[in-house]
Amino acid sequence: MICLGIESTAHTFSCSIVDEHSILSDVRDVYKPPAGSGIHPREASRHHADVCDLVLKQALLDANVSIKNDVDVIAYSAGPGLGPCLRIGAVVARCLASYYNKPIVPVNHAIGHIELGIRLTSARDPIVLLVSGGHCMILAFYNCRWRVLGETLDITLGQLLDQFGRALGFASPCGSKIEELASRSTNYIKLPYTVKGNDVSYSGLLTAAKRLVLVDKAKVEDVCYSLQETAFAMLAEATERALAFTRKDELLVVGGVAANKRLATMLESICNRQGASLHIVPTRYAGDCGAQIACTGLLAYNAGLSVDVSKAFVRQSWRLDSVDIIWRKPNG
Ligand code: AMP
Ligand code: MG
Repeated sequence: MICLGIESTAHTFSCSIVDEHSILSDVRDVYKPPAGSGIHPREASRHHADVCDLVLKQALLDANVSIKNDVDVIAYSAGPGLGPCLRIGAVVARCLASYYNKPIVPVNHAIGHIELGIRLTSARDPIVLLVSGGHCMILAFYNCRWRVLGETLDITLGQLLDQFGRALGFASPCGSKIEELASRSTNYIKLPYTVKGNDVSYSGLLTAAKRLVLVDKAKVEDVCYSLQETAFAMLAEATERALAFTRKDELLVVGGVAANKRLATMLESICNRQGASLHIVPTRYAGDCGAQIACTGLLAYNAGLSVDVSKAFVRQSWRLDSVDIIWRKPNG
C-alpha cells in the first residue's frame, strides 16, 4: 500500500511517498521570510503555489512511482495551521484525488509529528513532548486520544526562539542559530521562570530576554544561553512531573525544537531520574515534512478512514486532543 502525503501548514511545502515499510521519498521547499520578519501567510501560500508542482514531481521521481499506477491513497495536512497555506495543500490533494480517482485522507498535522516519531524510534507507549513552531505540549495516549498533560499558556517554545531571534535581526527560523550562540557561553543571567500547574508561559521570558539585549546591552551569547536554560528547564520540570505521574517509561520528543542538543541533555537527565528511556525523532524528520502526513494517512486509511473529496476541507484550529485515533489500541 503506497501513500502520497502533502504538508503545507506553515513555512514548508512538502510531498512524500511511503509504504508500510519505508519512506520512499520526502521532498521539501521552505518559504524563507526576510531577515527580522515572521511568516506572512499570504506570501507563504504564494510560495507553496509556486513550488508545489516541482516538489510533487521530484517526490514521485525519487520514489520511482506514478500516481496513476502506484499510489493507493492521498493524504494531506488539514490543520492546524495558516489558512492560506493549508488551502494550497488541500487543493493539490483534492485535484489529484478527483483526477486519478484515489481515496483522500485529511491528517491532523500534530498527530503526524507524533506518528512519524513513533515509527522512526523504538518508542511504543511514550509520554510525548511536542515542541515545534506551532505546538508546545506534553501528551500521553489514553482511551483512544492523545491527552494533554501540560502545554504552553501563550507562545510555543519555537515561537519564543524565533521571535527572540527576529528581534535581533536574524532570519527565521532562528532555533539553530540561537543554539550555536548559546553554546559559546556559560554565564547565566536570571530570567523569569513561569510554570503554572503543569503548564508553561513564555511571553514574560521573551520580553525580558529582548530587553536584556536591546536595552541593557548584555552579550548576545549570554542571553541566548540564559534563554535556552530557562525555557528548557521549565518544560523539563513539567515533563518530569508527567513521567512521574503516569509512570510511563518512555519519553518521545518530536517537532522542530527536538533538534536542539541542550534540550536533549536536560531531558536525558530527567529520564535517568525517572527510569525512562529517551527517544528523539531523527533531526531530518523533526521539522514539518510530508513523511509525517503520509505515514499517518496510511495508518488512518488502513483503519478505514477516508472522506469524500467534496468534504476534504481544512481546519485552521484543529486541536490534536479532539482526534479519535482509530488505528491504535484504546490504551496504547
Ligand atoms: P516545525 O514547526 O516542527 O517545523 O519546527 C520549527 C521550529 O523548530 C522553529 O521554531 C525553529 O526555530 C525550531 N528549531 C529548529 N532547529 C532548532 C534547534 N537546533 N534548536 C532549537 N529550535 C530549533
Ligand atoms: Mg509542525
